[in-house]
Amino acid sequence: MRPDRDPALLPGTPLYVHVPFCVAKCHYCDFYSFAAETGDSSGFVDLLLREASTRAADHPRTVFVGGGTPTWLPAAELRALFDGLEELTGFRSSAEEVSVECNPESLDEAKAELLLELGVNRFSIGFQSLRPELLELFGRVHQVEQSFDAFQAARSAGAEEISVDMIYASPGEKLETWESDLSQVLELEPNHLSAYNLTFEEGTAFEQWRRTGALIPQVEDLELQFFWRTREILEEAGYSPYEISNFSLNGQHCEHNLNYWENGSYSGLGPSAVGKVGHRRMGNPRSYGKWAERIRAGESPIHEWEETLAPLDRLGETWWLGLRTKTGIDPARARAVAAVDVFEDPCERIAKGLLEHGLLVHRDGCWRLSDTGLPLADAVARQFLTPGSGREDSDADRTEGSSSCSTAEN
Ligand code: SF4
Repeated sequence: MRPDRDPALLPGTPLYVHVPFCVAKCHYCDFYSFAAETGDSSGFVDLLLREASTRAADHPRTVFVGGGTPTWLPAAELRALFDGLEELTGFRSSAEEVSVECNPESLDEAKAELLLELGVNRFSIGFQSLRPELLELFGRVHQVEQSFDAFQAARSAGAEEISVDMIYASPGEKLETWESDLSQVLELEPNHLSAYNLTFEEGTAFEQWRRTGALIPQVEDLELQFFWRTREILEEAGYSPYEISNFSLNGQHCEHNLNYWENGSYSGLGPSAVGKVGHRRMGNPRSYGKWAERIRAGESPIHEWEETLAPLDRLGETWWLGLRTKTGIDPARARAVAAVDVFEDPCERIAKGLLEHGLLVHRDGCWRLSDTGLPLADAVARQFLTPGSGREDSDADRTEGSSSCSTAEN
C-alpha cells in the first residue's frame, strides 16, 4: 500500500468513479452532472488518477464508473482512465465486476469493444423510456432507436452483461403503454433491469414545473399500479426483484450496488462522490472547480466533509439500506456490521411495531418489507434512522459515491 493512502482502506474495497459530464442536463436529474460544453473536461482523467493514487484501494472487488455519462469521454480519455486505474489498483486481476454507465447517444460498437478491452464486463444503458414524447419531456438527447442500437452494439462487441434503466409513472404515461414498452425491452433479454418510479427531486426542472402546475405527477393509486405491474411483468419473465427497483436474470445482480445495500465500505472518487471506509463516511465537493482545485493544490484529504458514525447510527443505516433488498435484515448480522450489543439494539422493537402495522414480515430469522410495505420502502426504512444520522434527507436510492439509484441516474 502507498504510504499516503488511508490505512483503513482495505485491499479489495469496491471503487466508484464519478464522471460528471453529460451532453445536456436531464430535467428530472439531481445528480452532480453538467452539460459538457459548460464545463472544463480537459485534465479530468489526470486529476481523477491523482485522487485515486491516495484514495483507491488495491485490488478492488468491484469497480463502478458512473455519472454523469462516462461514455461521453473520448476513447483516448477512457483508455487513460482505465489504464491508469489498473496501474494504481490492479483492478483487472481482482474485480469480478467492472460496470460502466452508458447513454445511448455515446455508445457504439467501437466504444463498446474498447471498454471490453479495457476491462469492463458490465454495461448499464440508460434507455429511460421508449416514448419519444417522454424522452423529450425528460430532456434526453437520444432517440428511441438509439437505445436499441446501443444495446445491440454492446452485444455485438461481446458484452455478456447488460443492464437497462427505465423510468415509469411519468406524467401522462399510460399503464398500458408502459407494459408494452417494458415487454419490448424484455425482448432484448437484458441480464438486469432497473425500473424506477419517477421522482421529483429538489432543484430539478421537474420539481419546479410540478410546483408551478406545469407538470402533474401521477396519482398515488396509479403509481401503485405501475409498481405492481412492473414487478409482475418482470417476475413472469424470470427476473428476480433483488432490490426495490432492481431486477436480475439468473442471479446476475449488480454486486457493486449490493455492497451499498449491505452497508459495506467503498471509496468514491470524482466531484460529489461519497465514500465509506469502516465507520467513517466522507464526501467530495459538489463542485468540479473546488474538487479540481484541491487536487491541484495537493490537499489531503481531498474530500470536503467526513463524519464518524456512532454505533446506533450505523445500525439504523444498515436496516435502512438492507430493508430495500429481497434478503432483508438479519438483526444479528446488522448488529455485527454496526458493532452494537444486542441489549442496546432498538431496531427489533421498531420492526415489531411495523410488523403490527403490516409493513414488515419476519421470516426465517430475517425482517423484510411486506407487500404493503414494499411500495412504501423509503418511508418504512426511514423509521430506523436515528435523528442526527444525517441520512433523513437522503434518498436511499441516490448514491453519488455509489451509483445505486431509484431516481434514475443515466
Ligand atoms: S440523468 Fe444521467 S444523462 Fe441525464 S443529466 Fe443526469 S446523469 Fe446526465
